[in-house]
Amino acid sequence: MGGRKRVVVTGGAGFLGSHLCDRLLAAGHVAICVDNFHTGRRANVDHLNDHSSFELVEHDIAAPLNLDADEIFNLACPASPQHYQDDPVRTTKTSVFGAFNVLELANRTRSRVLQASTSEVYGDPLEHPQHETYHGNVNPIGPRACYDEGKRCAETLFFDFQRQYGTEIKVARIFNTYGPRMQPNDGRVVSNFIVQALRGAPITVYGEGAQTRSFCYVDDLVTGLVALMGSPPDLMGPVNLGNPGEFTVRELAKLVIDLTGSSSKMVFRPLPADDPRQRRPDISLASSALGWRPEVGLRDGLVRTITYFESLLKYGAPLEPA
Ligand code: NAD
Ligand code: UDP
Repeated sequence: MGGRKRVVVTGGAGFLGSHLCDRLLAAGHVAICVDNFHTGRRANVDHLNDHSSFELVEHDIAAPLNLDADEIFNLACPASPQHYQDDPVRTTKTSVFGAFNVLELANRTRSRVLQASTSEVYGDPLEHPQHETYHGNVNPIGPRACYDEGKRCAETLFFDFQRQYGTEIKVARIFNTYGPRMQPNDGRVVSNFIVQALRGAPITVYGEGAQTRSFCYVDDLVTGLVALMGSPPDLMGPVNLGNPGEFTVRELAKLVIDLTGSSSKMVFRPLPADDPRQRRPDISLASSALGWRPEVGLRDGLVRTITYFESLLKYGAPLEPA
């Protein structure tokens, strides 16, 4: 991104959004964090309160936004299956009305807008690894549909705004990302396993733990988002962003136990409905078009994330997994 820009980050007080705000400010931009604190926390951006180029706007993106912007990153949406299924109607409203409202804002301000889409648009994929050309296998009436279909409809709106109004769009399909500032009670697998291991509690493996995921460290992901936003206008996406290293959930559990030196043992719980059996990004498009590849391997990224959760524990935060 050349020059100083006013960059709106919806969901900026969340896990990914707060890291993105840090990165934008470090690059000399103005970061405007728009969040309703549904799953995010003020604490994630407390360290930015005194930064002269940081603005915090409390707002629900399901309602229209009125701000000045040069660029918009649309990250506002609960991302953990547990959170997005708590109030599924609200999740769909955030995804779909939220996408509509940021697109309207982009048109009014003539700004470029990036949608944080997801590997969940591939559902329980029948193609492996997943390339951007794959149209996915989503159950439209299942418990994950509020998120998967909400994100699919958001992608539809992005491309229709581009075709109908010439809006400058970017769509990133983000695969499982982890790192510091995930909430202890977030419910996703990496935070659950680390918190359980640090407390010496049972590690809750869903199903037999044979399902796979590909885990990307947050710094790598943010680098990919910024690179996509700064790419030439004809690269609209969708572009997969994720780490192609693929692990079973059971392998992840063993690694977390190993790295924490925990006495925790695995316990097996029922596999949630529609839980994808395998997931790995084909990142050839991101590599060739953006020159992007993740640099932090799972072991290294987990060590950094464990250090974060250990410091929460040290300062007395209630480390309760979901
Ligand atoms: P998160 O839950 O930590 O952050 C989401 C943020 O959005 C929170 O701060 C929350 O308060 C805010 N928010 C939710 N609904 C809102 C609304 N209606 N109005 C305003 N703010 C609202 O999740 P995250 O992991 O940081 O995910 C950020 C984005 O990236 C999400 O859109 C998610 O779908 C996408 N994504 C994340 C991952 C991942 O592995 N982390 C993977 C794929 C896609
Ligand atoms: N999972 C698990 N134990 C947990 C939390 C999640 O075994 O305590 C599994 C979950 O069933 C899924 C995988 O880990 O197969 C990744 O789950 P997560 O919620 O992190 O992300 P998503 O399902 O959206 O990829």
